Amino acid sequence: MYFDTHAHVNFSAYKDDGEEVLKRALDNGVFVVNIGSQYSTSKRAVEYAHKFETGVWAAVGVHPVHLKKGSFTHRDPDELEEVEIQTSGEVFEYGKYLELAKDEKVVAIGEVGLDYHHFDPPRVDERSSSRVEAGEGDDVAALIKKQKEVLIEAIRLANEVRKPVMLHCWDAYDDLLEILQNHPVEKKGVVHSFIGSHKTAKKFIELGYKIGLNGIATYGESYDKLIREIGLENILLETDCPYLTPRPLEKGIRNEPLFVKNVAQKIADVKSVSIEEVGKITTENAKKIFDIDTSYFQA
Ligand SMILES: [Zn+2]
Repeated sequence: MYFDTHAHVNFSAYKDDGEEVLKRALDNGVFVVNIGSQYSTSKRAVEYAHKFETGVWAAVGVHPVHLKKGSFTHRDPDELEEVEIQTSGEVFEYGKYLELAKDEKVVAIGEVGLDYHHFDPPRVDERSSSRVEAGEGDDVAALIKKQKEVLIEAIRLANEVRKPVMLHCWDAYDDLLEILQNHPVEKKGVVHSFIGSHKTAKKFIELGYKIGLNGIATYGESYDKLIREIGLENILLETDCPYLTPRPLEKGIRNEPLFVKNVAQKIADVKSVSIEEVGKITTENAKKIFDIDTSYFQA
């Protein structure tokens, strides 16, 4: 089995065939958590989960970039893909999210987190560094403050429903670590789409968090050292579909949960273990962190 722990089949890229895409994943031994990035997509993630008896779950949250209204071009770190993202200026309404979060199919609160990368102009160049210098303008300072406040609220929600967090973080790992230290999540969680150094990864692992790896890890050798340095017991697989299509699939092909096997293959190659071993251990990790019992699947 494999587990795509961070998918967005609840997004409009799958408006015509979302159920088919999920069925194709399940038929090929891939479990899926669909992740909300605002209220509407969170709600849709829960609805999708209920369409399947098991094998598909949901996470509900507000992506930090959605806290600001606007649109921006998103480029992945290896500059291979570019997408236009519209953001709505979402408000994190605790009560509304609490109602969603209580649902039995909801296995995590997220995605939530910090994203300093998409400020215009970018405030930091190095992907994994974080600190935004003081005095760079009220707008950026206010947005950072808002992202932090919402993240702390999301942690409060996670602790209220006793579920883990699904964390998004770009150019803000130091600040994220600080918040997790000062506002502990009882059930811990995942730092999804991790693109920092192995040293940074180890700091999150020490706090009890798992590291989510996706197609970015297949774009060349930049993340081979990270993959080698962290144990399989601390890795979760994900696609972040429809974005970040893993190689050797061609750029431009819409990503989907089934392709999580390409990410597994890359990790297997770097670690010189079988893809089955990667699938087995990372699926166990996911079941543990999401508190999911899938024993009836193996029958
Ligand atoms: Zn995502």
